[in-house]
Amino acid sequence: MRRIYIAGNWKLNLNQSETKSFLDELKPKVTKVNENISVLVHPSFTSLMQAQSSLEGTAIQFGAQNCSNQDKGAFTGEVSIKMLKETGISSIIIGHSERREIFKETNENINAKLKAIREEATLTAIVCCGESEATRENGETDTWVEKQIEEAFKGISLDSSNIEKIVIAYEPIWAIGTGKTCDSNEANRVIQVIRAKFASLYSQDLADKVSILYGGSVKASNIEELLKTSDIDGALIGGASLMTDEFASIIDKSNSLLASTAA
Ligand code: PEP
Repeated sequence: MRRIYIAGNWKLNLNQSETKSFLDELKPKVTKVNENISVLVHPSFTSLMQAQSSLEGTAIQFGAQNCSNQDKGAFTGEVSIKMLKETGISSIIIGHSERREIFKETNENINAKLKAIREEATLTAIVCCGESEATRENGETDTWVEKQIEEAFKGISLDSSNIEKIVIAYEPIWAIGTGKTCDSNEANRVIQVIRAKFASLYSQDLADKVSILYGGSVKASNIEELLKTSDIDGALIGGASLMTDEFASIIDKSNSLLASTAA
């Protein structure tokens, strides 16, 4: 069985004191997490140390929303993976559509970041991909995400010992922050396309092991439908991860669904 991820992406929200208050409110609502589920939040860089102290001893892990592919040097404004690792992170999101669209990150940049993350054996990379509305309307969704995956993973060697440190998130851009969730069957279909691409790059065995999440207006009312599909292994969640009741309810529903499928 593939690991399920319920991962919050806080984007540019919650300073240090807000992070403390938010996590103080969230923690009592997330008292148990199924052993097959990883719950993660991704605060801003400046709130990572606060997340570390707030989340110590809980079942909630935390990660960063971005990283540099460089270790050190003349890269003004960048934060290295080693610096992030010092804060206790367990994951890094790369290739989010906002980074691609607003900050003009390319598949090549994402590939360089993924290579750098892979040098730190303990960190999980959450690699995002997804098409715009125009790409979908042109009928190019599948070829678009296949290209994103092919280029992001170029030259990255993976095997059964490190595949669990790779997570892919399929996030159709038109569904992010819009309230328009992609139909669960369609999200599942595109995720199958991504899995097949991954199998062609690596092997069917690794493709069967890699967790692939859906992201785009996920909330407590649609998480079960998404998780009941054959290939969706969790969710990357923006807006709903900033509401403690909603995020805790997504975790609760995922816990119950896993318990009922295991029974
Ligand atoms: C995201 O930021 O990755 C995201 C999916 O946002 P939202 O859940 O708000 O659509």
